[in-house]
Amino acid sequence: MFDMHSHHFVDAAQVDARIDSLASFGSAGVTKMVLSSQHEPDASRSPDGWILDVLTFYAVSVYPDFFIPSVRGVELFLPGSVAQMEAWAAYGAEAFGELFVHGYGAGLYSLDVLADICAVAADYCIPVSCHWEIGGVFPEERDKETGALRESSAEANFLQLLDLLNRFPQTHLAEFVRVGDETPPLKFILCHCGAGASQNNPGDGYVALGMRMDALIGKYPNVYFDIAGIYTDLVASSDLADVIFARMVAHPDRFVVGLDIQHDPSDFLGYPWLYSELLDPLLSDSALTAVMNGNGPRILAEHYQAGPRPSVGLHWRGVPPYTLPWP
Ligand SMILES: [Zn+2]
Repeated sequence: MFDMHSHHFVDAAQVDARIDSLASFGSAGVTKMVLSSQHEPDASRSPDGWILDVLTFYAVSVYPDFFIPSVRGVELFLPGSVAQMEAWAAYGAEAFGELFVHGYGAGLYSLDVLADICAVAADYCIPVSCHWEIGGVFPEERDKETGALRESSAEANFLQLLDLLNRFPQTHLAEFVRVGDETPPLKFILCHCGAGASQNNPGDGYVALGMRMDALIGKYPNVYFDIAGIYTDLVASSDLADVIFARMVAHPDRFVVGLDIQHDPSDFLGYPWLYSELLDPLLSDSALTAVMNGNGPRILAEHYQAGPRPSVGLHWRGVPPYTLPWP
């Protein structure tokens, strides 16, 4: 099983134990794990927040055959964030994400900056995973507590993703990204199928989600979906599971597994087996192979084909080399 979406932590005191714990999924049926930092608002917004991505590369340095580095960047709206992401790409990042189309606080959101970062990703042939606020299919436009309009309503999320997707034909990347191409080099992965954890969401939201997934599948061959959370969050509603499973059966080449391991990895050790159990009766042998093992490597393949990963020191433009706070 190729895991396209899991997380580590910033807790330096326990980082080695946690990296070991994540790597133990290698003996639980996971062949490779695309690893990025866990979203932690306080840590992400601190001046030292970039250690989150440093830790990703640290994990890769310990288990180079298991982890694949995905960087999130910090404070993406600040000047220099695009250059920072480009430096990570030059250093060897093999994916960007989870980037935020919307959610987890407006401070992390800028469509202009996301578009520039996607342009960098296209240059380096690395995929971008987009994530938005938990409850992404929730159709309610107003915050339950404050009554304020929710910036991260499902409709707003999808409109913004479309905006992002549609920018590329108009940019200098037109020669790289052509909507309608069979294999555009810039690939988007929509975390949680664009649904997020959604136990309490009503059925109307699922119907709308299915229609939006259909629109993305039909128009954008460079959009993929990860089924992170499908065993717990998504399958908590059989309606939502039906919506997603129907698309997966019809378009198995557009789905990847995301275990979305976070918190204590030992809590997730059964996930590879549970995902297999869930998908086995649903998919044909070839579709199962594609979703579990084929699509992830295929999405990343162009990056590998683009050339050898640079082996440079852990530093980037204008930022001094960082000393890890443990031996
Ligand atoms: Zn995640």
